[in-house]
Amino acid sequence: MAQTIFVFGCTGQDGALLCQSLLKSNFRVIGFSRKINPNRNKHELLGIKNDFEINQINLNNPLEIQKAIEKYSPTEIYNLSAQSSVGQSYLKVRETVESIVNTTVNILQSTKELDYKGKLFFASSGEIYGDTNIAASISTNHNPQSPYGIAKASSFKYVKFYRENYKLNAVSGILFNHESILRSEQFVTKKIILNAIKCLQDKNHRLKVGNINISRDWGWASEYVEAMQLITRSETLRDQIICTGNLTKLKDFIKITFNKLGMNWRDYVDIDKTLFRGSEILNNFGNPLQMEQDLGWKSKFKIKDIIENIINYEMNTR
Ligand code: NDP
Repeated sequence: MAQTIFVFGCTGQDGALLCQSLLKSNFRVIGFSRKINPNRNKHELLGIKNDFEINQINLNNPLEIQKAIEKYSPTEIYNLSAQSSVGQSYLKVRETVESIVNTTVNILQSTKELDYKGKLFFASSGEIYGDTNIAASISTNHNPQSPYGIAKASSFKYVKFYRENYKLNAVSGILFNHESILRSEQFVTKKIILNAIKCLQDKNHRLKVGNINISRDWGWASEYVEAMQLITRSETLRDQIICTGNLTKLKDFIKITFNKLGMNWRDYVDIDKTLFRGSEILNNFGNPLQMEQDLGWKSKFKIKDIIENIINYEMNTR
């Protein structure tokens, strides 16, 4: 019989892509959402809407987590559920902490009490390192600069603590930014691409952005959900960094996007100082070496491929 795998946060970008990948490998997937009627647009878009069951769960209620585990006996649990926007985390501090730290502790404590022997994967973030002048590796000190980063740093430590002290099979993947056609419009990459397309259609349209001198390590999400599974199934559980190792300036992201659409970005872009963050991270990138050495995983998609894929998708569907 197929092994059962839980995906908490299955309606998000990574959740949907992970479910798609697990279904392709013939696992039985049980997805979870906070909502009774979850938004399944991403599942519909990937053509997997009818291929797996979704249950409602409150990850802040340990009993609900335990009941679900007892009912389905999953061999792996992926926790991707979170208020995942750094920008929003300044406005929704409590919600960010609750959705990241509290839920992580609840999952860990609930599975410990059940003496759960399966594997647990937690999505951490490169934001835990804050500004990185050299590529962050696992031994780099944490220096988060936002409520989101602080919450992810705290939950990362809880995962490590439960693994080392209670022998839970729990591990974190420290994910740097990753994109796909499923990315929500609140994220800057999708905002840039959608607005650039609008500029192509209406020469008077303007794109407003904050600090374009920040640089990030952008990868392709479909590759990252494969990495999550490698980390979870590895014999010796070890926290890993999932990244490309390449830094791209936001200004260059904008330039590439407008160039691909045959425009000069300088004709359409306004810098809006109100969009600058108080504690802006300038550079944030990771070192992919440990992941390659331990598990043979290396990202293949380059920034130009990522932008081109999303533009092609948007141009063909809108
Ligand atoms: P998404 O925002 O696309 O999806 C997260 C899901 O979490 C949502 O679909 C939602 O599902 C659920 N959720 C739970 N609590 C909240 C809340 N308070 N506000 C909003 N949504 C909530 O995230 P991604 O798929 O992009 O990311 C997956 C995980 O990886 C997250 O933990 C994220 O923090 C982490 N990560 C992502 C990175 C990226 O670049 N994408 C980079 C680094 C880390 P529902 O409403 O159905 O419950």
